[in-house]
Amino acid sequence: MHIEVEETAAEPVRLFRINTGSCNGCDVELAVTSAVTEFDVEQLGCSYTGSAHEGDILLITGPLTVRAKDEVLRLYAETPQDKVTVAVGVCPVSGGVFRDSYAVDGPLERHLPVDVNVPGCPPRPQALLAGVARALEILRARRGGGERGGEPGDRKCPITDNFPARGRLSFDPGACVDCRMCRHVCAAGAIRFEEGERGARLTLWHNSCVFCGLCSHYCPTGALSVTGDWRLDHRAVDAFAQVERGEVPYAPCSGCGDPIIPAAPQLLHAAFRRPTPEIEKLTTLCPACRRRMSIGAPVR
Ligand code: SF4
Ligand code: SF4
Repeated sequence: MHIEVEETAAEPVRLFRINTGSCNGCDVELAVTSAVTEFDVEQLGCSYTGSAHEGDILLITGPLTVRAKDEVLRLYAETPQDKVTVAVGVCPVSGGVFRDSYAVDGPLERHLPVDVNVPGCPPRPQALLAGVARALEILRARRGGGERGGEPGDRKCPITDNFPARGRLSFDPGACVDCRMCRHVCAAGAIRFEEGERGARLTLWHNSCVFCGLCSHYCPTGALSVTGDWRLDHRAVDAFAQVERGEVPYAPCSGCGDPIIPAAPQLLHAAFRRPTPEIEKLTTLCPACRRRMSIGAPVR
């Protein structure tokens, strides 16, 4: 995947970083974007500054702790009016695993305008560059080109890595058996289930997911899997569209006709090397009919 960027003028766009009380995971990844040539923000025509007054793009990490809030807002007020603000990592975007803590006062957008979200815990350096490239587009539109806006060009960010870790989760409803183990193990509260008219609906919020992979690890059927797709940056106004959805359809119980979620073949083959016809029959029955069958009573 290539990140399209525009040619920049000689004067770099300044990036100013604010830590609102993070664990420093995102800040370590940001350090990579100035210390490692392959991921250097210089290839986007940017450089870091230590002065809030020079900040064209603000990169904000952390869940916004109660203790840090006043200082963060003071720093924010010192930055230029027409800057672009990027929330880096799930903490400023949604609170991440800290969202219900008494010690945080986020998410960030409750207190100041956010333009770009780069979710992840932490986001990869590739994702950070993609987020900065998106912020540059907004900055140019906001400032109408000009001295730091640069002219259109064909420079590309040479990041094409697709290593399968720390990317978006993918859901296969056809393999899901509605056991909800994934929701149980998700410390970030990123997974929700609802009962629909035709099936059970899963919603997974990319803006809350911390890429821990536990849902995928504990899913008995492989219905959830971690992909290498790290390109999760988006405009903050599109935050509510950043979801993975799927509906696990109900099927009628082969005994009484009540709606059930049948066992997917993946579960059957995980549990039994060679399922017998009797076991396969059990998978099409509701719990009440299974109990009747197991004691030899006739199934309705
Ligand atoms: S995705 Fe996997 S863990 Fe989650 S409910 Fe479906 S089968 Fe269970
Ligand atoms: S990888 Fe799965 S368990 Fe971990 S935060 Fe994301 S949705 Fe939750």
